[in-house]
Amino acid sequence: MLDEKLKERYSRQIISKSIGEKGQEKLLKTKVLQIGAGGLGSPCALYLVAAGIGELIIIDNDIVSLSNLQRQILFSEEDIGQSKVQIAKKKLSALNSNVKINAIKDYANEYILRKYVSDVDFIVDCSDNMKTKFLINHTAIQNNKFCIIAGIKDFYGQIITVNPKVSACYQCVYSNPGLEESDIAPLPVMGATPGILGTLEALEVIKTALGLPNLENTLLMVNLLDMTFNKIDVVKDNNTCICSH
Ligand SMILES: [Zn+2]
Repeated sequence: MLDEKLKERYSRQIISKSIGEKGQEKLLKTKVLQIGAGGLGSPCALYLVAAGIGELIIIDNDIVSLSNLQRQILFSEEDIGQSKVQIAKKKLSALNSNVKINAIKDYANEYILRKYVSDVDFIVDCSDNMKTKFLINHTAIQNNKFCIIAGIKDFYGQIITVNPKVSACYQCVYSNPGLEESDIAPLPVMGATPGILGTLEALEVIKTALGLPNLENTLLMVNLLDMTFNKIDVVKDNNTCICSH
């Protein structure tokens, strides 16, 4: 049961026919593991915490630098030189003290993901490299967790939601990479691009938790120069992909 304060805080969600009090109660029980507190991670975490999920675990090993501020909207000039997850925890807790925030300053490697994945409902990829995206996809499938994966470059982005063992996974869509572009030089990024894709990731968590339509078996391609959003049907590879066995 929601108390009066919670009813007031989430009143604009509760009056939505798609959410209601029951939906809000579901959100309050939802636990999310978010990898990355940068361009995608800032809006994703802000909207998840504002919407009233139950718990957010954020993993990032980075510190805030001046060149981050153009797109990583959790951070301010005074945060430069400090741990991203520590600042994120402070700002997110100030936004909504009902949400349990667990800030982990570490690399998102296999060991760390395995350590935190068991207790959550979702893994959200807000990383900036393909290697981590494949690792998150694989960890989510192994541990039977939903995952949301997004990528951005310049004015372009893609996002997919994976229902483990049921829908197509990230690796059904993309083959495992070798050396990638972002290993060689920083990619161009218009700051609003991760703003939009990170917001869509938060929305996918919320809608999936509520049983609303989501991006399972669908890759959403976003072109913010043309302002086009294209949905591409993707098919689960039932023979050779890691999600098939
Ligand atoms: Zn697959």
